[in-house]
Amino acid sequence: MSDVAPSNPLRIDRESKGGNMPATELHSAKSSSSKFNSAPLRIADTSVMSVSGLFKSYGKGAVQVPVLKGVDLEIEEGGFTAIIGQSGSGKSTLLHLLGTLDAPDSGEIYFRDQRIDNLAPRQQEHLRNREFGLIFQFYHLLPELTTLENVLIPRMVQDGFFRYLKNKRSYRKRAIELLEMVGLGHRLTHKPSQLSGGEMQRTAIARSLISDPSILLADEPTGNLDSENGAEVMETLTALRKHENLTVVMVTHDDQLASQADRIIHLVNGVVAT
Ligand code: ADP
Ligand code: MG
Repeated sequence: MSDVAPSNPLRIDRESKGGNMPATELHSAKSSSSKFNSAPLRIADTSVMSVSGLFKSYGKGAVQVPVLKGVDLEIEEGGFTAIIGQSGSGKSTLLHLLGTLDAPDSGEIYFRDQRIDNLAPRQQEHLRNREFGLIFQFYHLLPELTTLENVLIPRMVQDGFFRYLKNKRSYRKRAIELLEMVGLGHRLTHKPSQLSGGEMQRTAIARSLISDPSILLADEPTGNLDSENGAEVMETLTALRKHENLTVVMVTHDDQLASQADRIIHLVNGVVAT
């Protein structure tokens, strides 16, 4: 079942990922689907997202504060892109627009050749649920739930009670697999208060992957961590990107962290510096 009209390429993408197949099959189907889907859609072009002429201001009437003033960029499929800029330069604003969490004043955002900035809210929600994994500086874990339950939350919310119950076994298996991948296989029944900051962020990373997204959008994912925990989170992101065949876009104000990406986009005075 899909919220999206039959002509929508996202629907094809979703179905080729396998719908409610067990997590292990989902994983292998995903690798083949990305090869299958990228070819007919964008020949000789490896970008998975593209942005053109993006403007965004905050405020009303005479007190508008322009933040983004004509941003153009491409995100390469399977790449690790860092978006860097000073505090207040509009990095979070841009990432939120990429993730359809907010709308631009003007400009266009494409995901796999489909314009997404002006989609209906339900279709944007579908995208966020199925294609985008979102990670923030603060982990937004539910304190009364265990690590494993926190990772399962997106599936509970998306499926509703009966469908979730039907698929619970495969979701649990996938959640445990993800927690093992982020190095928390021994922390499944811990509550957030019993975890370190780095462990909480790694739980949030596992949660962002439970619905098998193709892109991870991370906003200062190490911003609240000491250097040791921050390095662990970066290693986790790098390893997962390769293992899960993900595209990663990470916002940071830290040159050192950005240097670990394979492409750096500088945001200066509301535009991409060239
Ligand atoms: P960065 O993530 O690079 O630090 P942000 O995108 O968070 O920058 O913010 C860019 C500018 O927009 C800042 O000056 C900030 O104060 C302002 N801003 C961000 N969000 C809002 C909002 N919801 N309302 C008003 N101003 C905002
Ligand atoms: Mg920010």
